[in-house]
Amino acid sequence: METFSDHYSSLYQTLNKYMPNANMELIERAIQYAQEKHKDQKRKDGSPYIIHPLAVAEVVLEMGLDVDAVLGAILHDCIEDTDASFDDIAKKFGRTAAELVEGVTKLTRADFSSTEEAQMENLRKMFMAMSKDIRVVLIKIADRLHNMRTMQYQTPAKQVKKCRETMDIYAPLAHRLGMQKIKWELEDIALRYLDPTGYDQIMSHLLAHKEQDEAFMRTIQNKISARLLDMGIHSKTYGRIKHVYSIYRKMSTQDKSMDELYDIYAFRVIVDTIPDCYNVLGHVHDLFNLVPGRFKDYISTPKPNMYQSLHTTVIGSQGIPFEVQIRTWSMHETAEYGIAAHWKYKQGGGDGQEKDFEWVRRLLESQQDTDAEDYLSSMKIDMFDDEVFAFTPKGKIVGLPAGSTPIDFAYAIHSGVGNSMVGARVNNRITTIDTPLQNGDIVEILTSKAAKGPSRDWLTVCKSNQARTKIKQWFKKERREENVTHGRASFESEMRRLGLPLPITIDPEVGPQLLKKLAFDTWEDMYAAIGYGGLTASKAVGRIRDDINRAIKTQENERISKPLRILDTGKKNQHAIGGVIVEDIDSCMIKFAKCCTPVPGDEIVGFITKGFGVSVHRCDCPNAANRDIPIQAPRWVNVRWANQDDQPFETTLELECNTRDGLLLDVATTMTAARVRLKELNGKDLPGGKSSFTVRFEVKNVSELESIRAKLQNVRDVITTRRGQN
Ligand code: MN
Repeated sequence: METFSDHYSSLYQTLNKYMPNANMELIERAIQYAQEKHKDQKRKDGSPYIIHPLAVAEVVLEMGLDVDAVLGAILHDCIEDTDASFDDIAKKFGRTAAELVEGVTKLTRADFSSTEEAQMENLRKMFMAMSKDIRVVLIKIADRLHNMRTMQYQTPAKQVKKCRETMDIYAPLAHRLGMQKIKWELEDIALRYLDPTGYDQIMSHLLAHKEQDEAFMRTIQNKISARLLDMGIHSKTYGRIKHVYSIYRKMSTQDKSMDELYDIYAFRVIVDTIPDCYNVLGHVHDLFNLVPGRFKDYISTPKPNMYQSLHTTVIGSQGIPFEVQIRTWSMHETAEYGIAAHWKYKQGGGDGQEKDFEWVRRLLESQQDTDAEDYLSSMKIDMFDDEVFAFTPKGKIVGLPAGSTPIDFAYAIHSGVGNSMVGARVNNRITTIDTPLQNGDIVEILTSKAAKGPSRDWLTVCKSNQARTKIKQWFKKERREENVTHGRASFESEMRRLGLPLPITIDPEVGPQLLKKLAFDTWEDMYAAIGYGGLTASKAVGRIRDDINRAIKTQENERISKPLRILDTGKKNQHAIGGVIVEDIDSCMIKFAKCCTPVPGDEIVGFITKGFGVSVHRCDCPNAANRDIPIQAPRWVNVRWANQDDQPFETTLELECNTRDGLLLDVATTMTAARVRLKELNGKDLPGGKSSFTVRFEVKNVSELESIRAKLQNVRDVITTRRGQN
């Protein structure tokens, strides 16, 4: 059984080594506080609980962290396991230490044990959630390391569960943060419980070959040291057997036994400068035979976790290959302690915490594309900035876009939860449902069967697409009528805000085009869409704004401007263009509507079109029937035929006939006899022995047209003749 005083004195030794100038009085008080709080608790082996936080603090010191982190480590289980509160700790030991403890507490409460896939995802999320302060993660790793070191006291079931979690989360985490030493230790202990047989096999093999291995390593080590001493290169060389789990992995991936496996030895040469690294490399290659293709220069190209070294594999006189890693002392620090080593340097440099997080962020971002041989490469870590992670009261992590609110949280759980939401409790306090969530918040959604469903405001409050979609779905389904009213109101107010004329939407020419642009069949559909939030009024108006302005401009131009082309060619009375006088308009382009092909003598009316001047219709044309509708009315203008010379007008007649041979010829003959310039003569069969003809020809006026019509009507088997009305 371990005792308090053992750990206490050990911690003080470590403190003196790593933090000789620390405020010992403060640390001492923290130890007393934790001891008092944990006084009734015992570790699984029966020793007093306080030894655990002390041991964790020691690891944290070895990592090179600061006083706050040491305080955080000493107090790390106080909030979770005792009656200590955040406020109390903050008052006694400072806000930073209290926040670290709180952060660790949240991680402790989060449930990371599920399927492997989800574990990886959770790891990522945990990181996000805690990225507020990387020290939280480091304390948690230290906590896990000590728990792993004392794993033998746990039940077998708990051992497997914890070790699995360590393998899936904590070891990769340590790796990501570049903390090799801790990673190896975590992996080796985990393997011991996850595959005891495999672990024992390797261990007993190593034990059996211990002397042999040591002799070999000594020989090589001496050889390298001697040469470097000769050359005057200040260095330290030592050999080691690679850690158990890496041998285990090599055996299983290469499907080899321990005896077949070479490359289990690794030597390290640590020097003062980078040029020395390359010097040493040359000497190593001179002393031993190089294994081709194994040289890696991680100095010029550091690994994503900032690891730097030269790696090479060579073969000694005994024919045994081994790896040599060459690095400087500072590279060595980074390799052993990773992020924490960096932290230490930063602290010395007086740089703020923010910088450190930037570094972590960059580190994690850059690791999105790690090399393929890295078995952790599948883990992706996104940017921290755009995500926030909160917990359910049961510890399930919910990932949301940054700035998300309890509304987003509720809909992320289930649309039913969102739709029946009446309030929220964040970290045990009732909060408004539009409060942005912070990483690590514990969120409880309060629901009621009597809830009236989401409010429209929620659409502007929520941040996640998921919530927005679900809220919109609810509105879409529940309230069509209300949506239309609501949507129309916001559409109209947006139109008014931008000074756009509302009637334009029912303009027969512009309206349908606008709808088409908006991709809706009817205006009501569009109002409904705005009403339930599928579309914002400003977006809708924005989409058609240009078209509306263009249409207005065109209409104005047509009314005001004087198209030069027409004036220039107008040898006739400038008021009569194309044989037509448009009242109140001096000149403009004229075209004759194709639907009713008016000719002089017909009662006509003009329509100011968009871009094509005035279109002349017959008054009885169906397309001119709507000219009393207020919105259309201003665009219908009075036109009349000018007294004109014999200008021809094109027109059409539709003939309905009984089908017979030679009828087409008879019609053509009749037209020729009437001295009409025929432009088109088409026939097609209709059901019931009938056929129809379209006759397009030129006439001077309506009386000529009527006389031709009478002649055609007299042709045998012509049943009816009528003016074309497309
Ligand atoms: Mn703990």
